[in-house]
Amino acid sequence: MADDEVFMLSAHTINMALECSFKYWLYKSGKSCPIENTQYISAGQAVHQFMEDLSNGTVEKDEYYLNGEYIVEGSREWEKKHEFIVPEHMYSRFFTCKENGCNWFNGRPFDVEVAFNKTIITPKGRTVNLRGRIDAQDEDEVYDWKTGSKVIGNKDYLRQAHIYDYATNFKKKVKFLSLLTGETLEVNHSPTYVPALCDEVIDILVNDMPLRRDDRHTSFTCKNFCENYNMYCRPGKEYILIE
Ligand code: SF4
Repeated sequence: MADDEVFMLSAHTINMALECSFKYWLYKSGKSCPIENTQYISAGQAVHQFMEDLSNGTVEKDEYYLNGEYIVEGSREWEKKHEFIVPEHMYSRFFTCKENGCNWFNGRPFDVEVAFNKTIITPKGRTVNLRGRIDAQDEDEVYDWKTGSKVIGNKDYLRQAHIYDYATNFKKKVKFLSLLTGETLEVNHSPTYVPALCDEVIDILVNDMPLRRDDRHTSFTCKNFCENYNMYCRPGKEYILIE
């Protein structure tokens, strides 16, 4: 590690590295496998786009969201546009979130998709560039919209909420709201949490990456939920494949 190295992190990469350093390594190397089950992602993206348009006063017909028509030609997502088409059995999730989102929003003025870029010096003296995008914020509150049912108790969301609290200098109340159920996660200010979390992640990235296959511990979760399992992590697949 060079003394002047700057580590680029986000809530997404922090959570991924803590879940599995090998998965993170695949992701950063551009080797991760395409996600096969995109039903939740497509519905979530559709709701997020709807909420953004609602705040901007530019709402379109439902088909625009359900068919991924908001993906712009030539954009990063264009080549995998099909992943943004919401399957019919997920329509009820979209419509429930949409209705709750309208009731919640009710004309309140919010800035949406607010980018942040914050430099942190960690307790171990590393420099971190922490980046992200906040769904919505006003002068007093920061919101992240979730489209699943469980918000409280989700460790990934808890870390993400602390990161947003840090990014907004502890000046606002951070709330993660499920538009599906109304469940809301709030965090208490903790100025030391995020810098220490960055060190925890960097320790993993510096020391463990990439773990050889024999050193990794595959589990029920790997087998059933990780898109990389069949390609890289099931018995018989060797790390040498990706060297
Ligand atoms: S299958 Fe498990 S060990 Fe392999 S990349 Fe996915 S989470 Fe990591």
